[in-house]
Amino acid sequence: MKINANYGSLEESYLFSTINKKVEAFQAAHSSASVIRLGIGDVTLPLCETAVRAFSLAALEQGKADTFRGYGPEQGYGFLREAIQNYYASFGVTLSPDEIFVSDGAKSDIGNILDLFDEDNTVWIPDPVYPVYRDTNQMAGRKIVYLNATKENDFLPMPDFTQHADLIYLCSPNNPTGAVYTQTQLKEWVRYALEQDAVILFDAAYEAFVSSPELPRSIFQIPGAKECAIEFCSLSKTAGFTGTRCGYTVVPEALKRNGFSLRKMWLRRQTTKFNGVSYPVQRAAEAVFTPEGMQECKAHLQVYQKNALQIANTLSELGIYYTGGIHSPYIWMECPHSMKSWEFFDDLLERAHVVGTPGSGFGVNGEGFFRLTSFGTPQATQEAMERFRAVYTR
Ligand code: PLP
Repeated sequence: MKINANYGSLEESYLFSTINKKVEAFQAAHSSASVIRLGIGDVTLPLCETAVRAFSLAALEQGKADTFRGYGPEQGYGFLREAIQNYYASFGVTLSPDEIFVSDGAKSDIGNILDLFDEDNTVWIPDPVYPVYRDTNQMAGRKIVYLNATKENDFLPMPDFTQHADLIYLCSPNNPTGAVYTQTQLKEWVRYALEQDAVILFDAAYEAFVSSPELPRSIFQIPGAKECAIEFCSLSKTAGFTGTRCGYTVVPEALKRNGFSLRKMWLRRQTTKFNGVSYPVQRAAEAVFTPEGMQECKAHLQVYQKNALQIANTLSELGIYYTGGIHSPYIWMECPHSMKSWEFFDDLLERAHVVGTPGSGFGVNGEGFFRLTSFGTPQATQEAMERFRAVYTR
């Protein structure tokens, strides 16, 4: 028996446990302090009413013999795949339901997709980054090359045509930096991937936060992307499904490598290792894509967008550099007075009783930066910003 020793090379993920320990210690020492958390990546608003109604009705259907449903199609029910197909059509992307795979969220698919690729592949991953891309590749022992996402390139690394990559991770709007690729930039990435026969793994988990029609919400808005990209998306942040669990992955029919159809491979993988998302969850997800559902989810997103604007305005007022916040729930700020990420974490907690996420936890280029999220309540966000103003005056 040989163990997968690659697990030994994984870094322990201390980020959120260290944050929690520090906050607990602070609360123990200052029991009357009210701590505001702007660090979490989880939503605070509930599911929209239309989704809850559909969810409940479907649960009741499961309790009656004539409407009960057992195993469903591994790829997702047709009703949901068609709803997703129509959603994509609303921003100009034509997909066939066969290219859409319903899942229990983007995280699992992002990890599972690696079943399709040999271990001997060069993987490009931006730094700072959503840690799942890095860890899932390290688990398989793949060679990772990090792409520097820095203030100089607005946290949007571009391809170096003199170097070869096989797999490329792009996340736009980005977690943690909130940066969003333009059409022109994504065109360059698609040109690179087609030239190198590489595959882009495009994470669109935050696409619903894009509020300008000029900015791409899907890589498939770029001509040629269907020959070189897979897209992951999620209802977690769009519709508050973090605890309900539903996402989808698009593997285009046109994506072929070494005589293999990646869509067929993914279908084979899913039918072998996955038994689908529960029927009530898929009905709730379908309801999100109805006009009423979209309207209600939009109203929720607007609450987060207003919070983000409030954070962004406060930082602008204080003369603190930041990215994100406009087309993203994340605000990526430079730590004031050249503090390091953890130094600023402690300072902010001690002096303002506000919690955020140290940028260094997302990669070496995150050092000196800090992530704030707009997922708190408007009251908490406003209060946190008042404290910011009081402590970090210019
Ligand atoms: N991709 C990114 C960039 C994320 O930040 C997250 C969650 O925070 C996910 C994917 C995972 O989403 P899901 O809840 O659908 O698994």
